[in-house]
Amino acid sequence: MENKKDRLVRGTALNGRVRAFAVRTTELVDELRRRHDTYPTATAALGRTVTAAAMMGAMLKGREKLTVMVKGNGPIGQIVAESNALGEVRGYVHNPHVHLPSNSQGKLDVAGVVGTEGFIDVSKDLGLKEPYRGSVPIVSGELGDDFTYYFAVSEQTPSAVGLGVLVETDNSVRVAGGFIIQLLPGLTDEEITEIEKAIGSMPSVTTLLDQGLEPEEMLRYLLPDAEILDGLDIQFVCQCSRERVEQTLVSLGAHELERLIEEDEQAEVVCHFCNEAYVFDKDDMQVILTQAKS
Ligand SMILES: [Zn+2]
Repeated sequence: MENKKDRLVRGTALNGRVRAFAVRTTELVDELRRRHDTYPTATAALGRTVTAAAMMGAMLKGREKLTVMVKGNGPIGQIVAESNALGEVRGYVHNPHVHLPSNSQGKLDVAGVVGTEGFIDVSKDLGLKEPYRGSVPIVSGELGDDFTYYFAVSEQTPSAVGLGVLVETDNSVRVAGGFIIQLLPGLTDEEITEIEKAIGSMPSVTTLLDQGLEPEEMLRYLLPDAEILDGLDIQFVCQCSRERVEQTLVSLGAHELERLIEEDEQAEVVCHFCNEAYVFDKDDMQVILTQAKS
């Protein structure tokens, strides 16, 4: 794995009628692989999902955040990714230990583990009373096409989404990243055809990243006249903490806590997102029980 920091760039082209994002998520995806012990095909599926989520997070503002849930009928089960406007991303899969033989193109069979039926649900916390919710059926299970479909149908923004994860023979992540090109109103048919041609003839995201291209170079590959607006560091961050887990335990209520203390004497709570285990011994549990009673 190359030791370059994960980074996202935002750009625009054709007088603001095209909006574009490109990102390298190699470190993020490898961190998730290590934390969740994902097998290669699962690493690719989770990696593509968090890469899309990282770019969708960059479309948010301030303290807004979002959750992507890929609920396919494949053996990986649900894939969950969370991100925000600060470039903080986390994610997990229900079954990290799934791996399939390569598909007919010699690539990791992401559709095979995700499944070709199901839904992609997106929930955005925009600081309003109710979160924004969007849901689309899975159309391919390869995820790039599925997010393309999500943007077209749920957000009414025609987009091209490229996502890629390249896994080494030792199962670590060699490169990961992606791009989203969004076509805004006012483009001519010729301009759209030009962009589609560039996307159709471009090498895969992982090929470009493996050649050492930076996210802005990847964008310029697709949109030669792209103006880079700004960048954002992308990193794995989990918001869990011992205090938060304690509060969750308190919220179980005195009755349930008494039962837990009687049965197990202690409690161990594992965070789904980072796999960190929080252990509360008998004394800790008594303190939590007192809090629950007050
Ligand atoms: Zn956590």
